[in-house]
Amino acid sequence: MSERAVVIGGGAAGMFASIQLAKRGMDVTVLEKNEKLGKKVFITGKGRCNFTNVCDEETFFRSVMRNPKFLYSAYHAFRAQDTVEFFENAGMPVKVERGRRAFPVSDHAYDVTDALKRLMKRYGVNVLLNTEAVRIETGGEKQVTGVYFRSKEKNTDSQEEMGYAAAERVIIATGGLSYPSTGSTGDGYRFARETGHTVTDCTPSLVPLLTEENVSELAGLSLKNVTLTILKPKKMSSEIGEMLFTHKGISGPLVLTASSILAGEKCTFPVGAEIDLKPGITEEELDRRIVRLFEEHGAKNLSNLLRELFPVSMINWMIRLCGLDGTEKGRDVTRKERNILVRMTKHFPLMITGNAGYAEAVITKGGVSVKEIDPKTMMSKKIKGLYFTGEVIDTDALTGGFNLQIAWSTAFAAGNAPD
Ligand SMILES: Cc1cc2nc3c(=O)[nH]c(=O)nc-3n(C[C@H](O)[C@H](O)[C@H](O)COP(=O)(O)OP(=O)(O)OC[C@H]3O[C@@H](n4cnc5c(N)ncnc54)[C@H](O)[C@@H]3O)c2cc1C
Repeated sequence: MSERAVVIGGGAAGMFASIQLAKRGMDVTVLEKNEKLGKKVFITGKGRCNFTNVCDEETFFRSVMRNPKFLYSAYHAFRAQDTVEFFENAGMPVKVERGRRAFPVSDHAYDVTDALKRLMKRYGVNVLLNTEAVRIETGGEKQVTGVYFRSKEKNTDSQEEMGYAAAERVIIATGGLSYPSTGSTGDGYRFARETGHTVTDCTPSLVPLLTEENVSELAGLSLKNVTLTILKPKKMSSEIGEMLFTHKGISGPLVLTASSILAGEKCTFPVGAEIDLKPGITEEELDRRIVRLFEEHGAKNLSNLLRELFPVSMINWMIRLCGLDGTEKGRDVTRKERNILVRMTKHFPLMITGNAGYAEAVITKGGVSVKEIDPKTMMSKKIKGLYFTGEVIDTDALTGGFNLQIAWSTAFAAGNAPD
């Protein structure tokens, strides 16, 4: 009889691990509680799926925010370039965009899931949809023995009425807590705890931030070429980049990165922050530019003149923030008023009161402790035959395709772990 493996979760890591296991001739069953496989993959990269990042190795590990060292073996065994080749061989042409981000040429995330589903079919993976894993069984020898599960139609809590899949290997690929609407509701953490593992503190990461200021009038405004500085618990300034205002706060690449840094700090909200709206020039240079502008167009009023400096939808906000009068003529603006304008442009203040929560978080910071997982095989150090892959592990990265690469690399390691 061939070895039996049960994969809990048919997301990125679960689908990929099932292919690796089935390729080796194992009898593989994937349990997925949703009605379809890869529900989260469909919404990744705004529906285009930025499935990896073909950066150099150093950049990859620099982009992993938590426990990069844990990923050394797994990444070296299956790198970003291997991911690209894997999908190309699976019949999915690939393109690389700005920042070395890789996407399917079609710009359709479902091509990634389709490629995985084709291979799962080819290697005979048995898929049970609408099926939720409920409990992992372990024998006296601290060896995994199988998984209890229930189907949606038979929503039972009685163990006698549940299905049972006996297995020598169980792969936990349940994801984390982010975007629970896609099926990742933290079940993997429960399985880990029930089998004696430590789960580190979890918190939403790569998530929009909320502000004390009511910024709804700025919602939708995207600011390019700005920097964001978080003032506490330690001062952290971003590189020049893009951010945007939402109805309740701020989002966009700079903000998601800041949220990931904040997730790693033991900080209590509120946290002060500021935006430099003109990071390319100093305060003195900005002041000279404003003096010139107000001299050359001194008859125009401030509301009109500020169009030269800020997006139109921001002007009323800036005028209020600086305590200025929008009808004042440029030539009448005093040095004191100009100084305030310069200061607020370089230090646009915001008070961050929290984040938008798991419902809007791209990733979960925290998870099953890496101290209890063998980094070469992803097998538990406590229960033989039990493996962890993907987001359920306490490792996470910045945006750019790195998180899915973590899913592929850890799933490859688990799927190819020796007998
Ligand atoms: C909006 C959004 C956009 C993103 N974009 C990108 C991107 O472009 N690039 C990138 O690298 N990363 C991106 N990510 C992150 C990426 O999607 C995750 O890192 C990745 O999906 C994690 O894979 P996983 O297989 O570990 O978990 P998931 O993809 O979450 O899969 C877990 C699966 O397990 C199933 N499951 C859970 N519990 C059970 C149970 N008890 N029984 C049966 N099944 C169960 C779930 O239904 C789910 O299908 C994005 C995330 C979000 C939310």
